[in-house]
Amino acid sequence: MDIYLSPEQLDLRADVRAFLDEQYPPERIGQMERDEEYPDDFYRECARRGWTGIPVTKEYGGSGGSVLDLCVFVEEVGRTSISLSTLYITGTIFGSHALHICGSKEQAGHYLPAIVSGEKRFALAMSEPGAGSDFAGMETRAERVDGGWRIDGVKGPISGAERAEVIITAARTASYPGASRQKGISLFLVDNRAAGLDFERTSYAAMRALMVNKVHYRGVVVPDSAMLGPVDEGWLNLARLMDPERLANAAQTIGVAQAAIDDGVAYATSRQQYGQPISRYQAVSHPLAEAQAEVAAARLLVYAAAAKRDLEGPCPKEASMAKMLANNVAARATSAALQCAGARGYERDSHFMRRVLEVRGCELGGGTSQIQRNIIARFMGM
Ligand SMILES: Cc1cc2nc3c(=O)[nH]c(=O)nc-3n(C[C@H](O)[C@H](O)[C@H](O)COP(=O)(O)OP(=O)(O)OC[C@H]3O[C@@H](n4cnc5c(N)ncnc54)[C@H](O)[C@@H]3O)c2cc1C
Repeated sequence: MDIYLSPEQLDLRADVRAFLDEQYPPERIGQMERDEEYPDDFYRECARRGWTGIPVTKEYGGSGGSVLDLCVFVEEVGRTSISLSTLYITGTIFGSHALHICGSKEQAGHYLPAIVSGEKRFALAMSEPGAGSDFAGMETRAERVDGGWRIDGVKGPISGAERAEVIITAARTASYPGASRQKGISLFLVDNRAAGLDFERTSYAAMRALMVNKVHYRGVVVPDSAMLGPVDEGWLNLARLMDPERLANAAQTIGVAQAAIDDGVAYATSRQQYGQPISRYQAVSHPLAEAQAEVAAARLLVYAAAAKRDLEGPCPKEASMAKMLANNVAARATSAALQCAGARGYERDSHFMRRVLEVRGCELGGGTSQIQRNIIARFMGM
């Protein structure tokens, strides 16, 4: 299954696995989730090892890696924890891709080296309490003021916002009666220490170490230089950001699914009932075997879509197909693993249960599976 990866990508995977297996065993992840301990040290280590530079071009001090490199990386991190992989996706990938796609020379020069060094993490604020799937219905507004813009509204849920140094914020800057609601949305680089910004933590069932927030903007004033891309055209740039976001999301759920299957097999081969390991019962082994085959197929689809993005540019249909399939396969795999763990899987701190919940969260972020199906169907001409 590794024939599609280069020796460098296989080395990257091995390095990440060795680091995480040593530093972040399941007990540590469980404790971080329980105590809502933000993984600062993980991020620092990513920067020290050059991993925060993967999506940044060499011109700005990064290694100019591909989307496939990123998928290999986040899949491996997702195997350990979705809080860690999502922190990397939002903190590093969102920021660097947005700046490469639509940042000015000054913005790129200011922020990209700081992403590589780990000094600046990003969050991406599109959703609102009243505008989730349909986020063109956003009510957060940015009004022109002398020398800049004043932002008012509520965003959320936003992954990692309270600890990100910069929040890419989508806000309505104009309405064009008769035109699509997608026109008139602009993007801003908002410093998370800006006056008028407040963070509320969600009470989500998983990803508690990452901290997912509702963000209140009460008269937050940003300078003109904070505008990311052209005024009123933010939607187009958000759409261009979606491929890497969805592919990374898909890849991390493949990682969770593989971890669930591996733990399921370990449990099933050691747990004895009726005088033999439960893995001897086909009712236990077959769901895990089927999950393994599905995960292998979904992984190939994710890699193929990422390779297409790297070689040919935007691939929204393939990115949506990869996200939908990977998320769904991962939901089945984590559920099969939970079932084979019996009552142990149902304990509050069970990693089997944590992974079921992690995959549910990923399925919602970046557009639900229903929304991915809508996109795929549209590209099929329906
Ligand atoms: C853990 C987590 C982290 C997140 N992080 C971020 C982040 O960093 N930044 C950010 O901007 N957002 C983030 N989100 C928000 C996420 O993008 C939204 O939750 C998602 O878009 C769905 O919106 P909603 O929850 O409001 O559901 P709704 O849009 O209200 O949808 C409810 C249900 O209706 C279905 N539905 C809605 N419209 C349609 C339709 N047209 N066709 C078919 N079905 C439909 C949906 O699929 C869903 O099942 C995060 C969410 C979670 C759970």
